[in-house]
Amino acid sequence: MPTWTLVYQGFKPEEERLREALCVLGNGYFCTRAAAEWVDADENTHYPGTYVAGGYNRLITEISGRPVENEDLVNMPNWLCLTFRILENGAGEAEWFDLAKVEILSYRQELDVREGLLTRTLKVRDGKGRETSLNSRRLVSMAKPHHAAIEMTLTAHNWSGRIQVRSALDGRVVNYGVARYRELNSKHLVPQDSGFEEDGRIYLQVETSQSGLKVAEAARTRFYDESGALIDTSYETVVEPGYVAQIHTLDLGEENPVSVEKSVTLFTSRDRATSHPLSEAIEAIGRNGSFDDLLHDHKVAWKQLWRRCDVVLDQKRERVQMILRVHIFHLLQTASRNSIDLDVGIPARGWHGEAYRGHIFWDELFIFPFLNNNLPELTHSLLRYRHRRLDEARAGAAEAGYRGAMFPWQSGANGREETQSMHLNPKSGRWLPDLSRNQRHVNIAISYNVWKYWQATGNDGFMSVFGAELLFEICRFWASIAHFNPDRKRYEIHGVMGPDEYHEEFPGRDEVGLRNNAYTNVMVAWSMDAALKALDSLLPYRREELRETLDLDDEEISLWADMSRRMYVPFHDEAIVSQFEGYGELKEFDWEGYAEKYGNIARLDRILEAEGDSANNYKLSKQADVLMLFYLFSEDEVIRIFEQLGYEVDPEGIRRNIEYYAARTSHGSTLSNLVMSAVTSRYDRESSWTAFCKALESDISDVQGGTTAEGIHLGAMAGTVDLVQRVYTGLEIRDGILFFNPRLPPQLGSIEFAVRFHGMWLDVRVTGTDLSISPRAEQRTEPVKIGVVDKVFFLKPGYKRAFKLDQPLE
Ligand code: BGC
Repeated sequence: MPTWTLVYQGFKPEEERLREALCVLGNGYFCTRAAAEWVDADENTHYPGTYVAGGYNRLITEISGRPVENEDLVNMPNWLCLTFRILENGAGEAEWFDLAKVEILSYRQELDVREGLLTRTLKVRDGKGRETSLNSRRLVSMAKPHHAAIEMTLTAHNWSGRIQVRSALDGRVVNYGVARYRELNSKHLVPQDSGFEEDGRIYLQVETSQSGLKVAEAARTRFYDESGALIDTSYETVVEPGYVAQIHTLDLGEENPVSVEKSVTLFTSRDRATSHPLSEAIEAIGRNGSFDDLLHDHKVAWKQLWRRCDVVLDQKRERVQMILRVHIFHLLQTASRNSIDLDVGIPARGWHGEAYRGHIFWDELFIFPFLNNNLPELTHSLLRYRHRRLDEARAGAAEAGYRGAMFPWQSGANGREETQSMHLNPKSGRWLPDLSRNQRHVNIAISYNVWKYWQATGNDGFMSVFGAELLFEICRFWASIAHFNPDRKRYEIHGVMGPDEYHEEFPGRDEVGLRNNAYTNVMVAWSMDAALKALDSLLPYRREELRETLDLDDEEISLWADMSRRMYVPFHDEAIVSQFEGYGELKEFDWEGYAEKYGNIARLDRILEAEGDSANNYKLSKQADVLMLFYLFSEDEVIRIFEQLGYEVDPEGIRRNIEYYAARTSHGSTLSNLVMSAVTSRYDRESSWTAFCKALESDISDVQGGTTAEGIHLGAMAGTVDLVQRVYTGLEIRDGILFFNPRLPPQLGSIEFAVRFHGMWLDVRVTGTDLSISPRAEQRTEPVKIGVVDKVFFLKPGYKRAFKLDQPLE
């Protein structure tokens, strides 16, 4: 089985939207779904979406008499449009190519993730018995972020005649990709300019209606015969508001293929080093070389990325290998060197579709670990997205009556809260209040990510200029939302939700949110500790500057220190950490009965609401919540954190907690199986592998039955790669040391990857019995400290170390 390609045989209309999402091409600047070139958006089958990273717009819709504003990732003008028709008797109106109206003799679609190339090869027979082949190749250049291209080769097999080829840019599109959002306003683009140049270049400019983002596209279409010689065609141009098309007329000889090359440029008014998006787009397309020129540079860019990011398994696991590569591919298409200069975060669903409106959630917690190890400069840039929104987070905290910075659950353009206020339960047809914004734990993810980035890179400059301020302002928020309970002599946090979205409030208690979500409280203690360590690490002058700027006095600092030791953690059934206070009193859920009645019970919130019941009433979780603690930290680290809080937790207790919650989790989020796989990886390797495989299949097999078509799940994608690279190898950074403590699943013979630690590239190979670490030669970094199990070594560039896993060798 090929491990670099995702291959689909035959055309399946019911699968097409899924394939469009899984075969998206992008470069961190923009992404385009893998819709066929000749289709328009329709109800269920085709959706040619193009999304610019961070290209948001807000629209107001009236729902149940109330104006509701949503900020969406905008579907930008469709640049794919390329189709043909056979003219009858050399003239007259004929229908444009439509796959539904011909007999499909063969059809194959292939995504090559090594080279970032999408190909479609098909052969069809029309109603008049004419057989035609259409082979297309497409790329969105990783090397030149504003460029994309299509090459389409048409071959007449048993006929010859006159054809027309239409090449267009279509800005009349709306957001129509997610069925449950279709009642909302969706027209984001206002046409501004469309036209053509004497030499045949066509162009288009639109503007988003509220955010004022100008987006310009230009295209050039050329025709070549089999020998590569340019064919002169006659053409006419159609210009309408928001649309421009060029219709070329030419003759196609029998078995005499003609290749159409359409190259496209895309610029926006937020680009750097530009004057005006439209003039840039038109000029750049004029300078463009051939499809093959573009492909050459694109392949080089991908080759370099794979050198840094590939994770290689032994040959037996071909499907796992292929899916992991597809996951890495989509991660790198969402964030890449081309996004470093943009003001964007990492969207939960990639720039691959309209689900969750391109918003940024806590999912970066699952995505950054891999980036930290391989492309930390991307984490740096993505964390700056958060830092730029500090003021908005400060305003968010102030509006809610708190101090410091309260980052929103969902973030888009300017960092205000973008979580929708109402959501539709497709099962009951009811619009319901959406309370998920109470997931204040997103702030924990930001602190954790700042800390982990710093640990992986040792980038003190980042901590000094950006990181520490984020850590401090978030701690300040936690200190103000928490209160001291004198009876317990501990700090408590009320009115929040944990990661498990099924529990929004406590049954029968007239109170917003929950009390003392254990994950939040423990992580707040950890965040306080991290902030204090970061404060200590700053050079004295910078420490004083920051204290002065933020008005941070000794009293506040000692409050943080106190909170790091005295956050309250609820327990029940002796050693079970309660997901939140009172969880132990909730009813047990009839898992078997519901599974029997409904089959798929991943979304129990929707099922129970439609029954007039509520998930709030039961001991059930959509996704890992308490278990997140054991995901984010090694066992030793968790024990230490609890110990610092004055709670006793031992390995056996951890195991009991894992089993307790594993039995009560429906895994309604694709993130959940990542956590399950990680937390069981050391003691129940069979369950761990099963959960890993489920997480791996999340998108490629569309396990949620339709959600992937609306956008991939980037957390699950990056998280599975991280499981292999970090969890199975026991990779952990502690006290400036990169530790390995491998425990490979028996299903994997070996894992090879590169990791970058404090600037040094290390090539790592792990098997069940051996570990080798080879710092790449010719690096200028200082030696780094590596730990294998519990022994620590210094490593210098060019010196390879090999270890037997039970007995580290010198
Ligand atoms: C999950 C959240 C996640 C969001 C975006 C939801 O279904 O419950 O944890 O952040 O999707 O991926």
